[in-house]
Amino acid sequence: MGILDVKNVNKNFGGLKALSNVNLSVRENTVHAIIGPNGAGKSTLLNCLVGKLIPDTGSVMFDGKSVLGRSPYEINQMGISRVFQTPEIFGDLTVMENMMIPIFARRDGAFRMHAYESVANESGIIERAEQVLEDMNMADKRHMHAAAMSRGDKRRLEIGMCLSQEPRLLLLDEPTAGMARADTNNTIDLLKQIKEERDITIAIIEHDMHVVFSLADRITVLAQGTPLVEDDPQNIKGNPKVREAYLGE
Ligand code: ADP
Ligand code: MG
Repeated sequence: MGILDVKNVNKNFGGLKALSNVNLSVRENTVHAIIGPNGAGKSTLLNCLVGKLIPDTGSVMFDGKSVLGRSPYEINQMGISRVFQTPEIFGDLTVMENMMIPIFARRDGAFRMHAYESVANESGIIERAEQVLEDMNMADKRHMHAAAMSRGDKRRLEIGMCLSQEPRLLLLDEPTAGMARADTNNTIDLLKQIKEERDITIAIIEHDMHVVFSLADRITVLAQGTPLVEDDPQNIKGNPKVREAYLGE
C-alpha cells in the first residue's frame, strides 16, 4: 500500500472520458512522476486528488483515509499541498506575506490580513516562513513584491508556499512549464534538495523529460485517460508503448 492509492477512478466531462479506470499507487518518500501527452488527463487526475473535482467512480485513499467527499481545505488539512499549473501567488503582497498565507490557511482555514502580524508573531509562523525561505535561498527576497520576481522565482515561491504547510504529500503540476533552461535546472536542484532533506512524498506531473528522469523514482504514463505503464525510469525510457503515445505530439 502506498501513501496515496488511487483505484479504478473514472471521470467524464459530458461525453468525454477524461479518466478511465485509473490506478496509481505512490509509495511514501518517493518522487512519482505522472507523464503523458497533452489532454491525457493528468491535471484532471490531480484535481481529483485534492477535492477540486470528484471522480464519478473509484476511490482515492491518502494515508489509509478516503479523500472523496472532503473539501479541498479538509484534504489540505490531511497533509496534501499542491502547486497549480498556472502560478497562484499574490503579486501585490511581499514574498514573506505570500509565504504566510498557506500557513494560516492550513491552521485557520483563512488568511485574515488585518490580524496576521500579531498572530504571526505569537505563533511561530514568521520563523517557519523564514526558515523555508532560507532553505530555498530566497531569504534576501523576503520584502520584495511577489509581482516583481522573475518567472522562475515565482514558481520557486509557490513551491515554498506549499512547503511552509509541512505537507506529507506535495503535488506539482508542471512546475517547470514555460521556464528557461537555467530556471528548470534550479528547480530540479531545489526538488532534489527537498527530497533529501524532508520527510516528504512528491507526485509530479511534468512534460520535460529531463526533469522527469532527473527526479523520478517511479513513473506512470497516462494516455487518453488510462495508465499505459507504471515502471522504474530505466524501463520507461526504451518502452515502445510510451514512445508511441507521444508520437504526433
Ligand atoms: P492534461 O493535464 O494531461 O493535459 P487534462 O486533465 O487537463 O489533461 O484534460 C484531459 C481531457 O479532459 C482533455 O480532453 C480536456 O480538454 C478535458 N477537460 C479537462 N477539464 C475539463 C473540464 N472542466 N470540462 C470539460 N473538459 C475538460
Ligand atoms: Mg495539465
